Amino acid sequence: MQCIQSLRVLAYLTTHVTSRRTFGTPDLPARCSPTTQTLRLCCAFKDSTLKTHLDLPRRKPVGIPAEGAAKSEGVCRVPTGIGKSLLERPRHSVKVRTFDNIPPGSSRGVIEITSKEKIVEKIQRLKKERNAIILAHNYQVPEVQDVGDYLGDSLNLSKIAAGTNADVIVFCGVDFMAESAKILSPGKVVIHPVRGASCPMAAMIDVESLRELQRANPEAATVAYVNTTAEVKAEVDICCTSSNAVRVVKSLPNKEIIFVPDVNLGLYVQRFVPEKRFIFWRGYCHVHQNIDVEDIRELKEKHPAAEIMVHPECQPAVIDMADHVYSTQGMMQHARDSSARKFILGTEREMSYRLGKENPDKFFLPVENAICTAMKKIKLEDVLNSLETLEPRIELSQDIIERARLPLEKMVDIGRGD
Ligand code: SF4
Repeated sequence: MQCIQSLRVLAYLTTHVTSRRTFGTPDLPARCSPTTQTLRLCCAFKDSTLKTHLDLPRRKPVGIPAEGAAKSEGVCRVPTGIGKSLLERPRHSVKVRTFDNIPPGSSRGVIEITSKEKIVEKIQRLKKERNAIILAHNYQVPEVQDVGDYLGDSLNLSKIAAGTNADVIVFCGVDFMAESAKILSPGKVVIHPVRGASCPMAAMIDVESLRELQRANPEAATVAYVNTTAEVKAEVDICCTSSNAVRVVKSLPNKEIIFVPDVNLGLYVQRFVPEKRFIFWRGYCHVHQNIDVEDIRELKEKHPAAEIMVHPECQPAVIDMADHVYSTQGMMQHARDSSARKFILGTEREMSYRLGKENPDKFFLPVENAICTAMKKIKLEDVLNSLETLEPRIELSQDIIERARLPLEKMVDIGRGD
């Protein structure tokens, strides 16, 4: 890959609050060369070039600048090791932006490199200034979990959102979670740092299809897993999470239950409430759906003493192999209480991070490819950016907030079941 001779590039390096070094000058053209870190970073103005050059040390980039970074703004993260000699820091963030007055297509710009430590410092400072709290789901990347004031599953975080005195809630999870926080705390500013971090399962059901199902089953109560959009929640009798779904269904007088959208969770609940007739929606979480019996069996063969904990979003055959079926918060509790030292995890891989951190004497064995890419979209830089700008905010109509609030509040009031 070759950089254009006429490119003029400034690169600023910040490893401490005050230290900043410059690579290249506006008067010197940048040249691509695999031999210098400077030029490697200069090449960051083009996505493909960045990839090529960050790949040089044969490490996979953790993040690539947003599409069109050459012309607008983008953020990337350089993986551990790359640029260590340059930065004298193992991890850092690279922000790429062009000068305002540069014509489209030009590659001239500024690269700012900020240490992770400095980003965390800024986040902590802004949190105080804004009277903000950060809520982070257990599936978030470790660095985001580490800046969270509260970690947990949907039910935990919903309760905290409902009861907090903070003015601003930064919700690090997928969109339906941030929407739930807004519904439960409508007077607060609720920020979801990356707009596109959406749960694919929540997108599997829409209001019109649900209404049709309700019309066909007029005697049935509708239970919506919390993994649904605010619009769908506004149509249902009650919401549930994986930790209280059985309790929620048992609490209803109806003999018929429309359960949406996760068929695996619905089938799991049905085991405990055989007297009711379930009408399922055929949605699923692709992460848990893709954990199969062979994945668990393989881990068990390697670690015969390990306990198997799986999430109820898994397929019935996987649930049948488990010693325990828990929500992520239930897994946390059980790992603390159990005398076992090894645990096979049938849930999203990142769960092993928090479990390992809080139980350093125990071992947690995730299924390696159980990754929710939606949950990984929020990076530390996005958290900082959202605290700086107080955007992007969750905005919902008053009508939706009022109608979705009751089923969510009922869910919170019923409490945990695991
Ligand atoms: S893990 Fe599954 S249910 Fe959770 S956000 Fe990802 S896709 Fe949705």
